[in-house]
Amino acid sequence: MQKIRNYINGELVEPIGGKYIDNINPSIGEVYSLIPDSDNNDVELAVKAAKAAFTQWSTMSINDRAKIMEAIANLIDRDLEKLAMAESIDNGKPLKLARRVDIPRASANMRFYASGIQHFASESHQADENFINYTTRRPIGVAGCISPWNLPLYLFTWKIAPALAAGNTVVAKPSEITPMTAYLFSELCIEAGLPKGVLNIVHGLGGKAGQALVEHKDVPIISFTGGTTTGKSIAATAAPMFKKLSLELGGKNPNVIFADCDFEKALSTTVHSSFSNQGQICLCGSRIFVERPIYEKFVSAFVDKVKKLTIADPLNEASKVGALVSKSHMEKVISYIKLAKEEGGTIMTGGNRAKLEDRCANGYFLEPTVITDLPHDCRTNQEEIFGPVVTIMPFDTQEEVIEYANSTAYGLSATIWTENLKKAHNVAHEIKSGIIWVNCWLVRDLRTPFGGMKQSGVGREGGWEALRFFTEPKNVCISLT
Ligand code: NAD
Repeated sequence: MQKIRNYINGELVEPIGGKYIDNINPSIGEVYSLIPDSDNNDVELAVKAAKAAFTQWSTMSINDRAKIMEAIANLIDRDLEKLAMAESIDNGKPLKLARRVDIPRASANMRFYASGIQHFASESHQADENFINYTTRRPIGVAGCISPWNLPLYLFTWKIAPALAAGNTVVAKPSEITPMTAYLFSELCIEAGLPKGVLNIVHGLGGKAGQALVEHKDVPIISFTGGTTTGKSIAATAAPMFKKLSLELGGKNPNVIFADCDFEKALSTTVHSSFSNQGQICLCGSRIFVERPIYEKFVSAFVDKVKKLTIADPLNEASKVGALVSKSHMEKVISYIKLAKEEGGTIMTGGNRAKLEDRCANGYFLEPTVITDLPHDCRTNQEEIFGPVVTIMPFDTQEEVIEYANSTAYGLSATIWTENLKKAHNVAHEIKSGIIWVNCWLVRDLRTPFGGMKQSGVGREGGWEALRFFTEPKNVCISLT
């Protein structure tokens, strides 16, 4: 059985304690590799290596740093097929999706920040003839980067690329549920000649390896993407230590569909935004609000389309819906379908485990599920489910739908469908989410600020926001007289 190893000080190493955790392929429900069950001793070693590498990396010319990051991006592109296959096996997502989205985005992240750092500038201010200010932006030190399982290599590189480009060294902790592509990435870093200690990857459990990283006194900056409850606990540990924190957390995103929308476009994109990656994208819309005049027509057309989605072995090119990431996550999603029924919801389609044959007979597949007849304020409509489950609700007025959209504790993203520009602007202005799409979904320009309001997070990633986060500004004021 394949053993994943930690990447510390430029080498692939066994965990100090010699313990491993099972890594399960969710499409077949079987253990297929082993992950280091790292603890504070492994984290200690990684932080030590990252600290030792900081001086060399942070003073290396920006061009040389960028060249190494470019080389890593090129190796990701070279290994597209191998990485996409690994991601699909580890996560349960359709191979086609990993090949089209996850892996190309990982190399794009590395390339974007390799280039970005060469254009990043700091400021100078002069209010009169007597004084001039200039602001430097220096790397901070050892950055802790903690990432989730839903877009494993995509979100892992989204953090480490700006951290490294800005001149920090990194200790990263990928999700223990999907560690494989981060492991393959460490092999690529060695091949690309990344100096030892610049990036260290410690695999293991969140409460153990992750917690040790957050608690470490020599890690002054933490970038975390994951659930809101975990984010709260990380903040509680890091805040009294005055660490710089970026938190990208959960969501319960509304899709607001007005009667004057381009119906076909709204319909097909909403199917996609509901069930892509089995609904396990933080940006998936899970509450669909449809204006009353087209409500019946939309529900019926939506359900028809959802019934036609092909649930299949993720390695099958025809698969549109793969496996959920784990048994426990599938059980959590099923518990929400049960709750929806108790709350009076009508299951229009789905609601059950999908039974596949042959290789995937024991996989964690769930039918895409559409629920109606629930009020906007019930638990099903307030709590994050993070699976292939959406609710559809009618609305009558703009004011009413804005209230519904804003009624949860979350504020990550929202999608608005209307052909009326004024209405689009007004509703976009009123919805309390960090990201709004009008007549489209998940169109990403990596320069834009990415992140959520309320319990969806603190801070923004992307573009200059991430480079600002991963640097410490210092203002120098000089008297000219
Ligand atoms: P999670 O919070 O369980 O785990 C995320 C990471 O944190 C993992 O690597 C885990 O090992 C680690 N971790 C857990 N406990 C920790 C602790 N005490 N200290 C340090 N690290 C710890 O989240 P998940 O289940 O992997 O991911 C799903 C969640 O992520 C969903 O809520 C989803 O909305 C959210 N998410 C948000 C975004 C965003 O950009 N806002 C993107 C993707 C996913």
